[in-house]
Amino acid sequence: MIPARFDYVKPATLDEAVGALADGGEDAKVIAGGQSLLPLLRLRLAYPDLLVDVGGLVELSGVTDAGDSLVIGAGTSHYQLVHDPVVREHCGILAEAAGMVADPAVRHRGTFGGSLAHGDPAGDLPAVALALGATMIARGPGGSEREIAASDFFVDYLTTALQPGEILTGVRVPKLGRDWGYRYEKFHRTAQAWAIVGVAALARRSDGHVAEARIGLTNMGSVPIRAHAAEAATAGAEATRAALNAAAASAADGTEPPADLHGAPDYRRHLARVLTGRALAAAAGV
Ligand SMILES: Cc1cc2nc3c(=O)[nH]c(=O)nc-3n(C[C@H](O)[C@H](O)[C@H](O)COP(=O)(O)OP(=O)(O)OC[C@H]3O[C@@H](n4cnc5c(N)ncnc54)[C@H](O)[C@@H]3O)c2cc1C
Repeated sequence: MIPARFDYVKPATLDEAVGALADGGEDAKVIAGGQSLLPLLRLRLAYPDLLVDVGGLVELSGVTDAGDSLVIGAGTSHYQLVHDPVVREHCGILAEAAGMVADPAVRHRGTFGGSLAHGDPAGDLPAVALALGATMIARGPGGSEREIAASDFFVDYLTTALQPGEILTGVRVPKLGRDWGYRYEKFHRTAQAWAIVGVAALARRSDGHVAEARIGLTNMGSVPIRAHAAEAATAGAEATRAALNAAAASAADGTEPPADLHGAPDYRRHLARVLTGRALAAAAGV
């Protein structure tokens, strides 16, 4: 289908983009790589009056080492995340999961910020950002800036805490220390498809045990969620497959996964338990 009519601007700077978005009012929308928004426009599920194109803004792209964290520009593409040496060294799970997003063409155009701002619980990177304890940095009308914890950012299906007029400029991601292992497990029907369920697991290893774990779940509810019960069960567990599988048994506790052509809620709960066991074992190095 052909999208409904809209106006289009491509500002040269972030300040201009913030201004254009404010001038456009509630019916203005940011477009970055267009990999999620364009399909919505073509299906006429979104009707913005104005698109503010932030694709290619250099201020939004790239990775900065900020000491104990990385600040990753919202416009950084999935391809850049996969290949950036600093991301690979300090937040390897982000590079790993970005490499599982869609296909090479989408990974070249699609952006980290776009994936998060889209707020799709089936997206791979929101659950990873949640497990990592990332913080979103948003700039609003007049240039005001605020930070939003990932745990507060995903509000509902395709809905985030970003307000009209706000642009996500970057994401602060704490560095993982050398004692942390990680794994993103994605279960999909065909290669390069969306996750039926995904699990992002981080495990801090200590003396044959997992001292601490952080687990984010993809497509297990209307927003990406943490598997808190499984995290608690993993803390202090022996780093063995049997012990980690036992801890993973609670991975689906309290979840309300969707039902669709790819699977019923019970099937997704089963997948969440199995994938969490696998992801924890890989993260713990067993
Ligand atoms: C064929 C195909 C397969 C796909 N498979 C997967 C997959 O397996 N896993 C996966 O996770 N995703 C998948 N996707 C989705 C896609 O990769 C991401 O959602 C996409 O990369 C989003 O980034 P974008 O820059 O293209 O965002 P856009 O499409 O430009 O924007 C998406 C939304 O975010 C908003 N937005 C974008 N940037 C900003 C910003 N800086 N500030 C505020 N709001 C912003 C837009 O207004 C819009 O609402 C797939 C997409 C396609 C087309």
